[in-house]
Amino acid sequence: MKQYDVVIVGGGIHGAGVLQAAAAAGHSALLIERTGLASGTSSRSSKLIHGGLRYLESGQFALVRESLRERAIHLRIAAELVELKPFFIPVYRDTRRRPWQLKIGLWMYALLGGFDASTRFGTVPRREWPALDGLKTHALQAVIRYHDAQTDDALLTRAVVQSALSLGAKIAMPAAFAGAELSDEGVTVSYTEDGQRRQCAARVLVNAAGPWATRVAAAIRPAISIPDVDLVQGTHIVLPFAVTAGIYYVESPADGRAVFVMPWHGATLIGTTETPYRGEPEQAHPLPAEEEYLLAVVRHYFPAFEHLTREHITQRFAGLRVLPAASQAAFDRSRETIFSADRDFKPRVLGIYGGKLTGWRATASLVMDRISPSLPARTRRAATDQLILRRPA
Ligand SMILES: Cc1cc2nc3c(=O)[nH]c(=O)nc-3n(C[C@H](O)[C@H](O)[C@H](O)COP(=O)(O)OP(=O)(O)OC[C@H]3O[C@@H](n4cnc5c(N)ncnc54)[C@H](O)[C@@H]3O)c2cc1C
Repeated sequence: MKQYDVVIVGGGIHGAGVLQAAAAAGHSALLIERTGLASGTSSRSSKLIHGGLRYLESGQFALVRESLRERAIHLRIAAELVELKPFFIPVYRDTRRRPWQLKIGLWMYALLGGFDASTRFGTVPRREWPALDGLKTHALQAVIRYHDAQTDDALLTRAVVQSALSLGAKIAMPAAFAGAELSDEGVTVSYTEDGQRRQCAARVLVNAAGPWATRVAAAIRPAISIPDVDLVQGTHIVLPFAVTAGIYYVESPADGRAVFVMPWHGATLIGTTETPYRGEPEQAHPLPAEEEYLLAVVRHYFPAFEHLTREHITQRFAGLRVLPAASQAAFDRSRETIFSADRDFKPRVLGIYGGKLTGWRATASLVMDRISPSLPARTRRAATDQLILRRPA
């Protein structure tokens, strides 16, 4: 039976990140992905590499600081894939957050981002408002401008896997994890590939199956504890008009939630919603009510596109957030990543629940810290904050 130091289930951004980090640390590593790279949540996100300005309101300062640090690293190592963009927050007479509140938030954002050039912010002068893609100016009091970054989440995931493969990592795809047996030495992992049942041995199994992580964990024997998480659906739609000046960060007229209106391949991507989800993760799909909610945002802020209806939607997709189970609204829940190990010392299984696209590299590095006591000593090949990520062909 083939033996690996680390076997990873799930070829989303987290699985890709752990594969790369394990290979960079000199370990033998195998990634098992059922469908295709980034076929789950990692191609259905808002595609932002961002600090998460709104997380300041819920006091998640450590998350914002880490995300801003990761944003800076992406701009250096993934310049072909991650681009800094202007973000515009229009403030109308009835907008909930006032300009002074936003400016305090952006000042903290700049502080947590180490006041580097990308954290500069200000107000768009009134004479420049006509350049804002037809943004509604009735009752508009101010437009705040700051910067965050946009990527292509699926391409980024593929680029990280490409980097891992160049360091000697292996991948089985399409291949479905079927179960695992824990022993004193590690884990025996079973999966199916080409219609055949296969087995390999690992010192550690990393469960990076995103919304399927609880299912993967439930197939491990003896049984391990599984964190109590909820799935929350987020839908995006693409409409056939082009915003070009930057990304608009607006309040939904329905409930005040933040929604992004973003340039996307010559069209406009709008998202997202937060709908509690129960059911099989692979069956998540945009609901008519979610599409109407997002269309209402466009109609409200861009009067020239008031006529757009669901028939004009050219693309739609829904992704599932993994959030700690709680009674409060999804919007207000922690976005910190949850790690769950089968045991504190020398874990044989480590599960990643939740997290951010932005934080994949930091998350992978924390995973390596947690599992390294279970792994043999190896010679490091590279540091992941120095590995340049190339746009995949
Ligand atoms: C609507 C929405 C918007 C978001 N926007 C942003 C954003 O703008 N910026 C940001 O930083 N974060 C964002 N996030 C968060 C980010 O997208 C996720 O944290 C991240 O993509 C999760 O990646 P993952 O690798 O954990 O899971 P996934 O990408 O879902 O990957 C899991 C993989 O596991 C595979 N798998 C499942 N079961 C098996 C099995 N039995 N065998 C083999 N493989 C299996 C699946 O096929 C899948 O490819 C957003 C999330 C959502 C839902």
